[in-house]
Amino acid sequence: MSRFLKIYLYNTLTRRKEVFRPLHKNWVGLYTCGPTVYNYAHIGNLRTYIFEDVLRRTLAYAGYKVKHVMNITDVGHLTSDADEGEDKLEKEAQQEKKSVWDIAEFYTSAFLNDILRLNIKRAGVLTPATKNIKQQIALIEKLFRTGLAYETTQAVYFNVSEFKTYTKLSRQRIDEKITAARAEVIQDPEKRNPRDFALWFKRTGKFKNHALHWPSPWGDGFPGWHIECSAISTAYLGQPFDIHTGGVDHISVHHTNEIAQSEGAFGKPMVKYWMHGEFLLLDQARMGKSVGNFITLDTLVKKGINPLAFRYLALGAHYRSKLNFTWESLSAAQNSLERLYDFVERLSGLLRRNLDSDYRGFASIVKPRKNFEKAIYDDLDTPKALSVLWNLIRDYNKKPVRYQPREVLKLLFDLDQVLGLGLKDVKSEKIPAEILQLAEKREALRKEKKWQEADHIRKKILNAGYEIKDSPQGSQIKERHN
Ligand code: AMP
Ligand code: ZN
Repeated sequence: MSRFLKIYLYNTLTRRKEVFRPLHKNWVGLYTCGPTVYNYAHIGNLRTYIFEDVLRRTLAYAGYKVKHVMNITDVGHLTSDADEGEDKLEKEAQQEKKSVWDIAEFYTSAFLNDILRLNIKRAGVLTPATKNIKQQIALIEKLFRTGLAYETTQAVYFNVSEFKTYTKLSRQRIDEKITAARAEVIQDPEKRNPRDFALWFKRTGKFKNHALHWPSPWGDGFPGWHIECSAISTAYLGQPFDIHTGGVDHISVHHTNEIAQSEGAFGKPMVKYWMHGEFLLLDQARMGKSVGNFITLDTLVKKGINPLAFRYLALGAHYRSKLNFTWESLSAAQNSLERLYDFVERLSGLLRRNLDSDYRGFASIVKPRKNFEKAIYDDLDTPKALSVLWNLIRDYNKKPVRYQPREVLKLLFDLDQVLGLGLKDVKSEKIPAEILQLAEKREALRKEKKWQEADHIRKKILNAGYEIKDSPQGSQIKERHN
Protein backbone atom coordinates (compact mmCIF):
# COMPACT_ATOMS: atom_id res chain seq x y z
CA MET A 1 0.00 0.00 0.00
CA SER A 2 2.61 2.41 0.93
CA ARG A 3 5.95 2.45 -0.75
CA PHE A 4 6.85 5.92 0.44
CA LEU A 5 8.77 4.49 3.33
CA LYS A 6 11.82 2.38 2.78
CA ILE A 7 11.88 -1.18 4.05
CA TYR A 8 14.94 -2.11 6.08
CA LEU A 9 15.87 -5.75 6.51
CA TYR A 10 18.75 -7.29 8.44
CA ASN A 11 20.95 -9.23 6.07
CA THR A 12 22.91 -12.06 7.72
CA LEU A 13 25.36 -11.93 4.83
CA THR A 14 26.49 -8.38 5.63
CA ARG A 15 25.46 -8.39 9.32
CA ARG A 16 23.72 -5.07 8.71
CA LYS A 17 20.26 -3.66 8.26
CA GLU A 18 19.96 -2.75 4.59
CA VAL A 19 17.40 -0.92 2.51
CA PHE A 20 15.40 -3.53 0.65
CA ARG A 21 15.76 -3.11 -3.10
CA PRO A 22 14.18 -5.93 -5.09
CA LEU A 23 15.97 -7.44 -8.05
CA HIS A 24 12.91 -7.17 -10.28
CA LYS A 25 10.53 -4.32 -10.74
CA ASN A 26 7.25 -5.93 -9.81
CA TRP A 27 7.93 -9.03 -7.81
CA VAL A 28 10.01 -10.40 -4.99
CA GLY A 29 11.38 -13.95 -4.93
CA LEU A 30 11.21 -15.47 -1.45
CA TYR A 31 12.52 -18.91 -0.58
CA THR A 32 11.92 -20.46 2.82
CA CYS A 33 13.29 -23.82 3.92
CA GLY A 34 10.34 -26.04 4.69
CA PRO A 35 9.81 -28.79 7.24
CA THR A 36 11.36 -32.22 7.36
CA VAL A 37 8.18 -34.25 7.51
CA TYR A 38 9.13 -37.10 9.85
CA ASN A 39 7.33 -35.70 12.89
CA TYR A 40 5.03 -32.87 13.97
CA ALA A 41 6.43 -29.37 13.74
CA HIS A 42 7.07 -27.97 17.22
CA ILE A 43 6.14 -24.44 18.19
CA GLY A 44 9.83 -23.45 17.77
CA ASN A 45 9.66 -24.38 14.09
CA LEU A 46 6.33 -22.59 13.91
CA ARG A 47 7.86 -19.43 15.36
CA THR A 48 10.21 -19.38 12.37
CA TYR A 49 7.33 -19.88 9.92
CA ILE A 50 5.44 -17.02 11.62
CA PHE A 51 8.43 -14.71 11.17
CA GLU A 52 8.62 -15.68 7.50
CA ASP A 53 4.90 -15.12 7.12
CA VAL A 54 5.17 -11.62 8.60
CA LEU A 55 7.96 -10.90 6.13
CA ARG A 56 5.87 -12.09 3.22
CA ARG A 57 2.82 -10.14 4.40
CA THR A 58 4.89 -6.99 4.93
CA LEU A 59 6.21 -7.14 1.37
CA ALA A 60 2.68 -7.68 0.07
CA TYR A 61 1.39 -4.79 2.21
CA ALA A 62 4.09 -2.59 0.69
CA GLY A 63 2.73 -3.44 -2.74
CA TYR A 64 5.08 -6.16 -3.96
CA LYS A 65 3.94 -9.33 -5.61
CA VAL A 66 5.66 -12.09 -3.66
CA LYS A 67 6.62 -15.31 -5.35
CA HIS A 68 7.01 -17.60 -2.36
CA VAL A 69 8.64 -21.01 -2.71
CA MET A 70 8.99 -23.62 0.02
CA ASN A 71 10.38 -27.14 -0.13
CA ILE A 72 9.17 -30.13 1.84
CA THR A 73 12.04 -32.37 2.90
CA ASP A 74 10.86 -35.94 2.46
CA VAL A 75 14.18 -37.61 1.73
CA GLY A 76 17.87 -37.29 2.52
CA HIS A 77 17.81 -35.37 5.82
CA LEU A 78 19.97 -37.49 8.10
CA THR A 79 19.63 -37.56 11.86
CA SER A 80 22.43 -35.02 12.07
CA ASP A 81 22.43 -31.92 9.85
CA ALA A 82 25.84 -33.08 8.62
CA ASP A 83 26.04 -36.41 6.84
CA GLU A 84 25.87 -38.74 9.79
CA GLY A 85 23.25 -41.17 10.96
CA GLU A 86 20.13 -42.44 9.27
CA ASP A 87 17.55 -40.81 7.05
CA LYS A 88 15.03 -39.20 9.44
CA LEU A 89 12.01 -40.35 7.46
CA GLU A 90 13.18 -43.92 7.02
CA LYS A 91 13.91 -44.20 10.74
CA GLU A 92 10.42 -42.93 11.63
CA ALA A 93 8.81 -45.24 9.06
CA GLN A 94 10.49 -48.25 10.66
CA GLN A 95 9.43 -47.14 14.13
CA GLU A 96 5.81 -46.53 13.12
CA LYS A 97 5.78 -49.60 10.84
CA LYS A 98 4.56 -47.52 7.90
CA SER A 99 5.92 -46.70 4.48
CA VAL A 100 8.09 -43.62 4.02
CA TRP A 101 5.41 -42.18 1.75
CA ASP A 102 2.74 -42.59 4.43
CA ILE A 103 4.97 -40.84 6.96
CA ALA A 104 5.65 -37.96 4.56
CA GLU A 105 1.99 -37.59 3.66
CA PHE A 106 0.79 -37.72 7.25
CA TYR A 107 3.23 -35.15 8.60
CA THR A 108 2.88 -32.88 5.56
CA SER A 109 -0.84 -32.59 6.16
CA ALA A 110 -0.21 -32.08 9.90
CA PHE A 111 2.11 -29.21 8.94
CA LEU A 112 -0.45 -27.68 6.58
CA ASN A 113 -3.05 -27.89 9.30
CA ASP A 114 -0.71 -26.16 11.75
CA ILE A 115 0.05 -23.27 9.44
CA LEU A 116 -3.63 -22.89 8.57
CA ARG A 117 -4.50 -22.53 12.25
CA LEU A 118 -1.76 -19.94 12.66
CA ASN A 119 -2.90 -17.86 9.68
CA ILE A 120 0.41 -18.54 7.95
CA LYS A 121 -0.07 -18.14 4.23
CA ARG A 122 0.85 -21.21 2.26
CA ALA A 123 3.72 -20.78 -0.21
CA GLY A 124 2.56 -20.42 -3.81
CA VAL A 125 4.99 -23.19 -4.69
CA LEU A 126 5.21 -25.89 -2.05
CA THR A 127 7.13 -28.80 -3.44
CA PRO A 128 8.65 -31.96 -1.97
CA ALA A 129 12.27 -32.93 -2.59
CA THR A 130 11.18 -36.24 -4.10
CA LYS A 131 9.33 -34.41 -6.89
CA ASN A 132 12.50 -32.56 -7.89
CA ILE A 133 15.01 -35.35 -8.26
CA LYS A 134 15.81 -34.59 -11.91
CA GLN A 135 16.72 -30.99 -11.10
CA GLN A 136 18.94 -32.13 -8.23
CA ILE A 137 20.81 -34.61 -10.42
CA ALA A 138 21.28 -31.93 -13.09
CA LEU A 139 22.75 -29.58 -10.51
CA ILE A 140 25.18 -32.22 -9.24
CA GLU A 141 26.26 -32.90 -12.84
CA LYS A 142 26.94 -29.20 -13.20
CA LEU A 143 29.09 -29.29 -10.08
CA PHE A 144 31.14 -32.06 -11.63
CA ARG A 145 31.66 -29.85 -14.67
CA THR A 146 32.86 -26.95 -12.53
CA GLY A 147 35.25 -29.29 -10.70
CA LEU A 148 33.52 -29.03 -7.34
CA ALA A 149 32.13 -32.56 -6.99
CA TYR A 150 33.82 -35.95 -6.68
CA GLU A 151 32.65 -39.50 -6.36
CA THR A 152 33.59 -42.26 -3.89
CA THR A 153 32.34 -45.84 -3.62
CA GLN A 154 29.64 -44.67 -1.21
CA ALA A 155 28.65 -41.18 -2.26
CA VAL A 156 29.17 -37.97 -4.23
CA TYR A 157 30.64 -35.05 -2.30
CA PHE A 158 31.09 -31.32 -2.65
CA ASN A 159 34.77 -30.46 -2.50
CA VAL A 160 34.82 -27.60 0.00
CA SER A 161 38.56 -26.82 -0.39
CA GLU A 162 37.92 -25.82 -4.00
CA PHE A 163 35.27 -23.26 -3.05
CA LYS A 164 37.08 -20.26 -1.67
CA THR A 165 34.19 -18.31 -0.17
CA TYR A 166 32.70 -21.29 1.68
CA THR A 167 32.30 -19.58 5.06
CA LYS A 168 31.12 -16.16 3.85
CA LEU A 169 27.70 -16.53 5.47
CA SER A 170 28.73 -18.09 8.77
CA ARG A 171 32.03 -16.17 9.05
CA GLN A 172 33.37 -19.21 10.85
CA ARG A 173 37.01 -20.10 10.63
CA ILE A 174 37.34 -23.05 8.33
CA ASP A 175 39.26 -25.10 10.95
CA GLU A 176 36.26 -24.79 13.30
CA LYS A 177 34.23 -26.61 10.70
CA ILE A 178 36.80 -29.38 10.37
CA THR A 179 36.52 -30.21 14.05
CA ALA A 180 32.75 -30.12 13.83
CA ALA A 181 32.70 -32.70 11.06
CA ARG A 182 35.52 -34.99 12.16
CA ALA A 183 33.36 -37.91 13.21
CA GLU A 184 32.27 -38.43 9.64
CA VAL A 185 35.76 -39.45 8.45
CA ILE A 186 35.24 -42.88 9.88
CA GLN A 187 32.09 -43.30 7.82
CA ASP A 188 33.66 -42.93 4.39
CA PRO A 189 37.42 -43.51 4.17
CA GLU A 190 37.46 -42.18 0.58
CA LYS A 191 36.09 -38.81 1.53
CA ARG A 192 38.89 -36.34 0.80
CA ASN A 193 38.23 -33.88 3.55
CA PRO A 194 36.00 -34.17 6.64
CA ARG A 195 34.29 -30.88 5.87
CA ASP A 196 33.13 -32.02 2.41
CA PHE A 197 29.41 -32.71 2.37
CA ALA A 198 27.30 -35.24 0.50
CA LEU A 199 25.40 -34.36 -2.66
CA TRP A 200 24.26 -37.91 -3.40
CA PHE A 201 24.22 -41.11 -1.33
CA LYS A 202 24.57 -44.40 -3.13
CA ARG A 203 22.35 -47.31 -2.21
CA THR A 204 25.20 -49.22 -0.68
CA GLY A 205 26.81 -49.85 2.71
CA LYS A 206 24.55 -48.58 5.49
CA PHE A 207 22.07 -47.34 2.87
CA LYS A 208 21.87 -50.70 1.11
CA ASN A 209 18.18 -51.05 1.96
CA HIS A 210 17.18 -47.41 1.68
CA ALA A 211 13.53 -47.41 0.62
CA LEU A 212 13.63 -44.31 -1.57
CA HIS A 213 16.07 -44.43 -4.46
CA TRP A 214 16.43 -43.18 -8.00
CA PRO A 215 18.78 -43.98 -10.87
CA SER A 216 21.57 -41.44 -11.43
CA PRO A 217 24.89 -41.20 -13.29
CA TRP A 218 26.48 -42.42 -10.02
CA GLY A 219 24.19 -45.39 -9.58
CA ASP A 220 21.02 -45.92 -7.63
CA GLY A 221 20.68 -43.69 -4.62
CA PHE A 222 19.15 -40.57 -3.12
CA PRO A 223 20.09 -36.90 -2.81
CA GLY A 224 21.78 -35.29 0.19
CA TRP A 225 19.65 -32.83 2.13
CA HIS A 226 21.20 -29.53 1.00
CA ILE A 227 20.96 -30.00 -2.74
CA GLU A 228 17.14 -29.88 -2.83
CA CYS A 229 17.01 -26.24 -1.74
CA SER A 230 19.58 -25.15 -4.33
CA ALA A 231 17.80 -27.06 -7.09
CA ILE A 232 14.27 -25.99 -6.16
CA SER A 233 15.08 -22.32 -5.58
CA THR A 234 16.88 -22.03 -8.89
CA ALA A 235 14.13 -23.87 -10.77
CA TYR A 236 11.34 -21.62 -9.49
CA LEU A 237 13.03 -18.31 -8.74
CA GLY A 238 16.14 -18.22 -10.88
CA GLN A 239 19.48 -17.00 -9.63
CA PRO A 240 20.07 -14.68 -7.95
CA PHE A 241 16.76 -14.23 -6.18
CA ASP A 242 15.78 -11.74 -3.50
CA ILE A 243 15.33 -13.26 -0.05
CA HIS A 244 16.14 -16.60 1.56
CA THR A 245 15.05 -17.34 5.11
CA GLY A 246 15.28 -19.97 7.82
CA GLY A 247 16.18 -20.45 11.47
CA VAL A 248 19.60 -19.40 12.79
CA ASP A 249 20.66 -23.04 13.08
CA HIS A 250 20.80 -23.17 9.30
CA ILE A 251 23.45 -20.48 8.93
CA SER A 252 26.56 -22.57 9.50
CA VAL A 253 25.66 -25.84 7.75
CA HIS A 254 22.57 -25.93 5.56
CA HIS A 255 22.61 -22.42 4.10
CA THR A 256 26.39 -22.40 3.87
CA ASN A 257 26.14 -25.55 1.77
CA GLU A 258 23.29 -24.16 -0.32
CA ILE A 259 25.46 -21.17 -1.23
CA ALA A 260 28.41 -23.43 -2.09
CA GLN A 261 26.26 -25.55 -4.40
CA SER A 262 24.36 -22.74 -6.16
CA GLU A 263 27.22 -20.30 -6.48
CA GLY A 264 29.67 -23.10 -7.29
CA ALA A 265 27.44 -24.31 -10.11
CA PHE A 266 26.43 -20.98 -11.65
CA GLY A 267 29.32 -18.70 -10.72
CA LYS A 268 27.06 -15.86 -9.53
CA PRO A 269 25.44 -14.87 -6.23
CA MET A 270 22.55 -17.05 -5.10
CA VAL A 271 20.62 -14.65 -2.87
CA LYS A 272 20.63 -10.92 -2.17
CA TYR A 273 19.25 -10.95 1.38
CA TRP A 274 19.65 -13.81 3.87
CA MET A 275 17.35 -13.56 6.88
CA HIS A 276 17.32 -15.78 9.96
CA GLY A 277 14.91 -16.16 12.84
CA GLU A 278 16.15 -16.76 16.38
CA PHE A 279 15.17 -19.73 18.50
CA LEU A 280 12.20 -20.34 20.67
CA LEU A 281 13.51 -21.64 23.98
CA LEU A 282 11.98 -23.91 26.56
CA ASP A 283 13.45 -23.57 30.05
CA GLN A 284 16.12 -21.36 28.46
CA ALA A 285 17.28 -24.20 26.16
CA ARG A 286 16.62 -24.46 22.43
CA MET A 287 13.37 -26.24 21.66
CA GLY A 288 14.29 -29.18 19.45
CA LYS A 289 12.90 -32.42 18.14
CA SER A 290 16.12 -34.31 18.57
CA VAL A 291 16.57 -33.14 22.17
CA GLY A 292 12.99 -34.13 22.90
CA ASN A 293 12.01 -30.91 24.70
CA PHE A 294 9.28 -29.75 22.44
CA ILE A 295 5.64 -28.68 22.44
CA THR A 296 3.31 -28.98 19.46
CA LEU A 297 0.43 -26.75 18.46
CA ASP A 298 -1.98 -29.60 19.21
CA THR A 299 -0.82 -29.59 22.83
CA LEU A 300 -1.75 -25.91 23.08
CA VAL A 301 -5.12 -26.49 21.45
CA LYS A 302 -5.87 -29.37 23.83
CA LYS A 303 -5.27 -26.96 26.70
CA GLY A 304 -7.89 -24.61 25.29
CA ILE A 305 -5.43 -22.12 23.81
CA ASN A 306 -6.32 -20.34 20.59
CA PRO A 307 -3.44 -21.04 18.12
CA LEU A 308 -3.46 -17.34 17.28
CA ALA A 309 -2.52 -16.60 20.89
CA PHE A 310 0.77 -18.34 20.08
CA ARG A 311 1.07 -16.17 16.98
CA TYR A 312 0.45 -13.11 19.17
CA LEU A 313 3.14 -14.31 21.60
CA ALA A 314 5.61 -14.72 18.72
CA LEU A 315 4.83 -11.22 17.42
CA GLY A 316 5.53 -9.82 20.88
CA ALA A 317 9.25 -10.55 20.43
CA HIS A 318 11.47 -9.37 17.61
CA TYR A 319 12.32 -12.26 15.29
CA ARG A 320 16.06 -11.77 15.87
CA SER A 321 15.74 -12.15 19.66
CA LYS A 322 15.50 -15.41 21.49
CA LEU A 323 12.10 -16.02 23.02
CA ASN A 324 11.71 -18.17 26.10
CA PHE A 325 8.37 -19.94 26.05
CA THR A 326 6.36 -20.09 29.28
CA TRP A 327 2.73 -21.00 29.87
CA GLU A 328 2.28 -17.72 31.76
CA SER A 329 3.42 -15.64 28.82
CA LEU A 330 1.18 -17.63 26.50
CA SER A 331 -1.80 -17.07 28.72
CA ALA A 332 -0.99 -13.33 28.89
CA ALA A 333 -0.85 -13.33 25.07
CA GLN A 334 -4.23 -15.02 24.94
CA ASN A 335 -5.68 -12.34 27.25
CA SER A 336 -4.29 -9.55 25.11
CA LEU A 337 -5.65 -11.15 21.98
CA GLU A 338 -9.09 -11.46 23.56
CA ARG A 339 -8.99 -7.82 24.57
CA LEU A 340 -8.12 -6.95 21.01
CA TYR A 341 -11.02 -9.06 19.73
CA ASP A 342 -13.36 -7.41 22.25
CA PHE A 343 -12.35 -4.03 20.96
CA VAL A 344 -12.92 -5.03 17.35
CA GLU A 345 -16.26 -6.54 18.29
CA ARG A 346 -17.29 -3.37 20.11
CA LEU A 347 -16.52 -1.24 17.08
CA SER A 348 -18.13 -3.70 14.68
CA GLY A 349 -21.20 -3.66 16.93
CA LEU A 350 -21.42 0.12 16.65
CA LEU A 351 -21.30 -0.09 12.88
CA ARG A 352 -23.79 -2.95 12.77
CA ARG A 353 -26.28 -0.89 14.71
CA ASN A 354 -25.54 2.34 12.81
CA LEU A 355 -24.40 4.08 15.97
CA ASP A 356 -21.16 5.36 14.62
CA SER A 357 -22.65 8.61 13.38
CA ASP A 358 -22.60 9.83 17.01
CA TYR A 359 -18.88 10.03 16.64
CA ARG A 360 -17.34 13.14 15.26
CA GLY A 361 -14.08 11.54 14.30
CA PHE A 362 -11.69 14.45 14.11
CA ALA A 363 -8.71 12.57 15.53
CA SER A 364 -6.47 11.51 12.73
CA ILE A 365 -5.60 7.90 12.18
CA VAL A 366 -2.95 8.76 9.61
CA LYS A 367 -0.30 8.94 12.30
CA PRO A 368 -0.93 5.52 13.85
CA ARG A 369 -0.81 4.00 10.36
CA LYS A 370 2.51 5.74 9.64
CA ASN A 371 3.92 4.66 12.99
CA PHE A 372 2.88 1.11 12.38
CA GLU A 373 4.49 1.10 8.94
CA LYS A 374 7.64 2.67 10.30
CA ALA A 375 7.90 -0.10 12.89
CA ILE A 376 7.19 -2.98 10.56
CA TYR A 377 9.45 -1.63 7.81
CA ASP A 378 12.23 -1.37 10.38
CA ASP A 379 13.32 -5.00 10.05
CA LEU A 380 9.86 -6.28 11.01
CA ASP A 381 9.67 -4.72 14.46
CA THR A 382 6.47 -6.49 15.47
CA PRO A 383 6.65 -5.64 19.21
CA LYS A 384 6.70 -1.96 18.32
CA ALA A 385 3.94 -2.43 15.73
CA LEU A 386 1.75 -4.03 18.40
CA SER A 387 2.41 -1.18 20.79
CA VAL A 388 1.29 1.31 18.12
CA LEU A 389 -1.95 -0.63 17.90
CA TRP A 390 -2.48 -0.61 21.66
CA ASN A 391 -1.71 3.11 21.90
CA LEU A 392 -4.44 3.79 19.38
CA ILE A 393 -6.89 1.62 21.31
CA ARG A 394 -5.98 3.28 24.59
CA ASP A 395 -6.44 6.69 23.01
CA TYR A 396 -9.78 5.71 21.54
CA ASN A 397 -11.00 4.35 24.86
CA LYS A 398 -10.08 7.57 26.62
CA LYS A 399 -12.26 9.65 24.32
CA PRO A 400 -14.18 7.54 21.82
CA VAL A 401 -16.12 10.46 20.37
CA ARG A 402 -12.99 11.89 18.86
CA TYR A 403 -12.69 8.97 16.51
CA GLN A 404 -14.68 7.64 13.62
CA PRO A 405 -15.14 3.93 14.49
CA ARG A 406 -15.44 2.97 10.84
CA GLU A 407 -12.00 4.43 10.16
CA VAL A 408 -10.39 2.90 13.22
CA LEU A 409 -11.78 -0.49 12.31
CA LYS A 410 -10.60 -0.18 8.73
CA LEU A 411 -7.14 0.70 9.98
CA LEU A 412 -7.06 -2.32 12.28
CA PHE A 413 -8.12 -4.59 9.45
CA ASP A 414 -5.45 -3.12 7.18
CA LEU A 415 -2.72 -3.59 9.77
CA ASP A 416 -3.93 -7.11 10.38
CA GLN A 417 -2.98 -7.93 6.81
CA VAL A 418 0.54 -7.87 8.22
CA LEU A 419 -0.11 -9.22 11.72
CA GLY A 420 -2.48 -12.00 10.67
CA LEU A 421 -4.35 -12.14 13.97
CA GLY A 422 -7.70 -12.89 12.37
CA LEU A 423 -9.37 -9.59 13.32
CA LYS A 424 -11.80 -9.80 10.41
CA ASP A 425 -13.06 -13.13 11.68
CA VAL A 426 -14.13 -11.78 15.06
CA LYS A 427 -17.84 -12.44 15.16
CA SER A 428 -18.79 -12.85 18.77
CA GLU A 429 -21.99 -11.20 19.86
CA LYS A 430 -21.01 -11.29 23.50
CA ILE A 431 -20.64 -8.20 25.64
CA PRO A 432 -16.96 -7.24 25.72
CA ALA A 433 -15.10 -7.77 28.99
CA GLU A 434 -14.34 -4.05 29.32
CA ILE A 435 -18.04 -3.20 29.25
CA LEU A 436 -18.80 -5.87 31.84
CA GLN A 437 -16.07 -4.43 34.04
CA LEU A 438 -17.54 -0.94 33.71
CA ALA A 439 -20.97 -2.31 34.61
CA GLU A 440 -19.56 -3.96 37.73
CA LYS A 441 -17.87 -0.74 38.72
CA ARG A 442 -21.17 1.09 38.26
CA GLU A 443 -22.97 -1.47 40.45
CA ALA A 444 -20.40 -0.96 43.19
CA LEU A 445 -20.79 2.82 42.99
CA ARG A 446 -24.57 2.50 43.17
CA LYS A 447 -24.29 0.39 46.28
CA GLU A 448 -22.18 3.13 47.80
CA LYS A 449 -24.91 5.58 46.68
CA LYS A 450 -22.43 7.48 44.52
CA TRP A 451 -25.14 8.22 41.99
CA GLN A 452 -23.33 10.84 40.01
CA GLU A 453 -20.27 8.72 39.38
CA ALA A 454 -22.45 5.72 38.60
CA ASP A 455 -24.32 7.75 36.04
CA HIS A 456 -21.09 8.92 34.49
CA ILE A 457 -20.16 5.27 33.87
CA ARG A 458 -23.62 4.51 32.49
CA LYS A 459 -23.04 7.24 29.90
CA LYS A 460 -19.65 5.80 29.07
CA ILE A 461 -21.27 2.42 28.50
CA LEU A 462 -23.95 4.07 26.38
CA ASN A 463 -21.30 5.79 24.26
CA ALA A 464 -19.67 2.44 23.62
CA GLY A 465 -22.95 1.17 22.19
CA TYR A 466 -24.47 -0.65 25.16
CA GLU A 467 -27.23 0.20 27.52
CA ILE A 468 -28.09 -0.83 31.03
CA LYS A 469 -31.61 -1.75 32.05
CA ASP A 470 -32.07 -1.60 35.82
CA SER A 471 -34.79 -3.65 37.44
CA PRO A 472 -35.49 -4.93 40.96
CA GLN A 473 -33.86 -8.24 39.89
CA GLY A 474 -30.63 -6.47 38.97
CA SER A 475 -29.13 -4.70 36.01
CA GLN A 476 -28.90 -6.08 32.53
CA ILE A 477 -26.62 -4.94 29.71
CA LYS A 478 -27.74 -5.00 26.12
CA GLU A 479 -26.49 -3.71 22.83
CA ARG A 480 -27.93 -0.29 22.05
CA HIS A 481 -30.06 -0.22 18.94
CA ASN A 482 -30.79 3.45 18.39
P1 AMP B 1 13.20 -28.51 10.43
O1 AMP B 1 11.84 -29.10 10.22
O2 AMP B 1 13.95 -29.17 11.55
O3 AMP B 1 14.03 -28.47 9.17
O4 AMP B 1 13.01 -27.00 10.92
C1 AMP B 1 12.12 -26.11 10.33
C2 AMP B 1 12.49 -24.67 10.65
O5 AMP B 1 12.44 -24.41 12.05
C3 AMP B 1 13.92 -24.30 10.22
O6 AMP B 1 13.90 -23.02 9.62
C4 AMP B 1 14.70 -24.29 11.53
O7 AMP B 1 15.79 -23.42 11.45
C5 AMP B 1 13.64 -23.78 12.49
N1 AMP B 1 13.86 -24.13 13.91
C6 AMP B 1 14.31 -25.29 14.44
N2 AMP B 1 14.31 -25.24 15.80
C7 AMP B 1 13.84 -24.02 16.15
C8 AMP B 1 13.59 -23.34 17.42
N3 AMP B 1 13.80 -23.91 18.58
N4 AMP B 1 13.08 -22.08 17.36
C9 AMP B 1 12.83 -21.48 16.18
N5 AMP B 1 13.05 -22.06 14.97
C10 AMP B 1 13.54 -23.31 14.95
ZN1 ZN C 1 16.89 -25.29 2.75
